[in-house]
Amino acid sequence: MEFGIQNAIFILIFLFSVAFVTRNVIRLTSFILIAKPENRSDRIGKRIWQTFMIAFGQSKLLRFKAAGAIHASIFWGYLILLFSASQSVLEGFGIKHFWNFLGPVYSLITILTDVLCLLIFAAIVTSLLRRFVLKIKRLQTNSGGEIFDAVFILALIAVVVSTILLQNAAAVSAGIAGSSAVHPVGNIIAAYISPETAPMLHDIFWWMHIIAILLFMNYLPYSKHLHVYTSIPNVFFSTIGPVNSLDPINFEEEGAEIFGVVDIEDFSWKTIHDSYSCTHCGRCDSVCPAFETGKILSPQDIIIQIRERTFDRAPILVRQKKENQQAAKENRQPKQFQLSEEEQKTMDKKLIGDYISPEALWQCTTCGACMQECPVNIEHVPAIVGMRRSLVMMEAAISPELQTAFGNFETNATPWAFSPSERADWADGAGVKIAAQNPDFDVLFWVGCFGSFDDRSMKVSVAFSKLMQKAGVDFAILGAEEQCNGDSARRAGNEFLADTLIKSNIDTMNRYNVKKIVTTCPHCFNTILNEYPDFGGKFEVIHHSRFLMDLINSGKLKIKNGSEGIVNVAYHDSCYIGRYNEMYDEPRDTIKSIPGLNILEPERTGDRGFCCGAGGGQMFMEETEGKRVNIERTEELLATGAETIASNCPFCMTMLTDGVKDKEVENVQVKDIAEILLENIG
Ligand code: SF4
Ligand code: SF4
Repeated sequence: MEFGIQNAIFILIFLFSVAFVTRNVIRLTSFILIAKPENRSDRIGKRIWQTFMIAFGQSKLLRFKAAGAIHASIFWGYLILLFSASQSVLEGFGIKHFWNFLGPVYSLITILTDVLCLLIFAAIVTSLLRRFVLKIKRLQTNSGGEIFDAVFILALIAVVVSTILLQNAAAVSAGIAGSSAVHPVGNIIAAYISPETAPMLHDIFWWMHIIAILLFMNYLPYSKHLHVYTSIPNVFFSTIGPVNSLDPINFEEEGAEIFGVVDIEDFSWKTIHDSYSCTHCGRCDSVCPAFETGKILSPQDIIIQIRERTFDRAPILVRQKKENQQAAKENRQPKQFQLSEEEQKTMDKKLIGDYISPEALWQCTTCGACMQECPVNIEHVPAIVGMRRSLVMMEAAISPELQTAFGNFETNATPWAFSPSERADWADGAGVKIAAQNPDFDVLFWVGCFGSFDDRSMKVSVAFSKLMQKAGVDFAILGAEEQCNGDSARRAGNEFLADTLIKSNIDTMNRYNVKKIVTTCPHCFNTILNEYPDFGGKFEVIHHSRFLMDLINSGKLKIKNGSEGIVNVAYHDSCYIGRYNEMYDEPRDTIKSIPGLNILEPERTGDRGFCCGAGGGQMFMEETEGKRVNIERTEELLATGAETIASNCPFCMTMLTDGVKDKEVENVQVKDIAEILLENIG
């Protein structure tokens, strides 16, 4: 194509498109800036590596073999196609065969381009089959808008890739293909294009290609496929590693009136960015224990509704914000805009209630499975807990059971009506030192509320203490001075209460100059390890599954030859040890160190493990909707045929023990790994 009228028309259309896209980028950014600031630009090297692995390497998606391979092929195909698309755009400016200077590399790219165009075409057909013929559950929607969106985008992609092939074929037939370009598919199609009509067809296909690209660019900001622009930055700005801590609230901040998330402006800007980045893939729903057991919570829908609310409310807030800034510049009172009837209705609506159901928020177990699976690293749990915080601290909208638990936390520093003075009763006669009487010790055994007060978990505390005594560990407990670690109150939205408990515990431990903590509870472990530092408490914290392994490896615990009784053990990963802290091997290694014990894995295991249903404060709430999560999980564990279910968490222990009782299975026991080990120690 020589530079001429076509180029002039192209440049006009192109500039108009770029201006329109830029306008939308500014509009969407202004919505994000309505929300709270948060530093997400630290540790750049790690962020780049995370982006490389998750976004470019598609590491999360490839865990799902078939669907992952389809999506990854589309994504990698896009990257390669960028060469072809950029060449087409450059042609519009009269620059032909720009990439030829890459020589054989460009030859390879053009070969790949042809192959990828075919693959993408096949992937589009497969996607349509999965959605409309196979009717895959997580891809289904009742929204006509969503169906149009999906089909329109797939059609545009189909036009983009097919016109690449047709353009190449016409170029080959007309003898105008670049010298380094190799078009295996184009060569085949070229045989069906006469050289006389080829130049004209090339121009037609080029225009179709360009118009599809420009339409695609401009349609994206209005579509659920906005993630094409935002997903890579979203991974870059996401939390590095697992999302295992919540941001504290500074209750002393002057003028602070809102605690938690009442509306979109109370989220971190990253949550709004998350909402732009959702691909509607449904992976979060497919692993969510609440969604899977028939409850109304859909983590996908929570994110989508945040975006809906942002698009409804943010334009009004942005307009007022601009006016406020202008007024400040001009040193005058800002004028208050008269809202239209529609705008007033929007402002009168509530994020929680009109967009997101409070019931859904209360159904979350904070298991983190949604975040684990999300291919673009969306962070659902901080958003959900943020909204719970406002329900608790701004509206006191909580269930009577949770109200009771909060009351007990306040008066007894534990969720139950036990006196703090009874905290060490489990240790009576067990020869366990209490810090107040024996302030010199090497390791603090953080017992936790379950280990202190729950009949079943108290036995685990005794078993673990015996193991430490056998290994000669110099340890003590805080006894009456220990308070709940704060996790359940935190995740149930009562940050004020958690703040009080956490600070009190830190003061106590600092008084005893505690450096090293071991605990049998994953919730205590995670909170003290990953959240106490935000409150000024920095301690070395070890979960007993790793601690026991270290004692075995160092020869301090000697295992008997051959197990007594147990042969098959089904191991259940607790979310706060597995997913939150990526400890999958340590508990298994402890079990495997006992000769004769055979670990059986349930269907969902390891980083795909299924929650027991107790986290996020659920232990203290009623589960009224759908199937009980603990029953679902217990059934899976029982299906392994194991005689023993091994757990490493008192929450899981309680839920699974209840599950086994409910299923009326008498020959299966739920045991903590410390108990299994104690039975096999010489
Ligand atoms: S954290 Fe677990 S329960 Fe909560 S929304 Fe995510 S997957 Fe569902
Ligand atoms: S939140 Fe993540 S996993 Fe869930 S639908 Fe959106 S992109 Fe998929």
